[in-house]
Amino acid sequence: MQSLTNKARQVDRKPMTFLERMYVWNIAVGMWITLKHIFKKKATINYPEQKRTFSPVFRGLQVLNRDAEGRENCTACGLCAVACPAEAITMEAAERQPGEEHLYREEKYAAKYEINMLRCIFCGLCEEACPKDAIYLSETFAPSNYQRKGFIYGKGDLLIPHPQKDPEAYQAALGNRPIKQPKKDNATTN
Ligand code: SF4
Ligand code: SF4
Repeated sequence: MQSLTNKARQVDRKPMTFLERMYVWNIAVGMWITLKHIFKKKATINYPEQKRTFSPVFRGLQVLNRDAEGRENCTACGLCAVACPAEAITMEAAERQPGEEHLYREEKYAAKYEINMLRCIFCGLCEEACPKDAIYLSETFAPSNYQRKGFIYGKGDLLIPHPQKDPEAYQAALGNRPIKQPKKDNATTN
């Protein structure tokens, strides 16, 4: 029969020698290869105890940012959701009530904010679109999960720790990022 590609290989079907039938030679070759690798530098690391240095342009799990006083930066403008090519972000906006100024920096905030990690392609466009420095991609992986619904990350999963209640965890999540001031709205600059 004519082959469909030019990648077909002729199989050598000559009878095996006595040594080959004993598999001793092949086992010895295999053991020699294993032995050689014992003395070589390991290509793997003991993750998660050991971690590799991330590239400066690495983009990992999203974090919803707070300001230095611990208030949520997000104003639920929806720009990140519009910019997202994978349509992974959904949110519900709510109005800040009197007495909630210590919780939310803007008059409007995201009462619900979800990212579907099964859709996300970690492109970083949500971070670039955000005018409030409210979302950024960190140096963290999305952990594995057995359930699809486990990959829908809500606000509780995404919010950075409170800088005053848990400063160590806040600094660890922030990494080397400076605390940026939000861009001023046109309404406030005019
Ligand atoms: S990183 Fe890209 S794909 Fe993921 S949520 Fe942000 S914009 Fe969407
Ligand atoms: S994360 Fe940024 S872009 Fe997205 S809704 Fe909040 S403020 Fe707007």
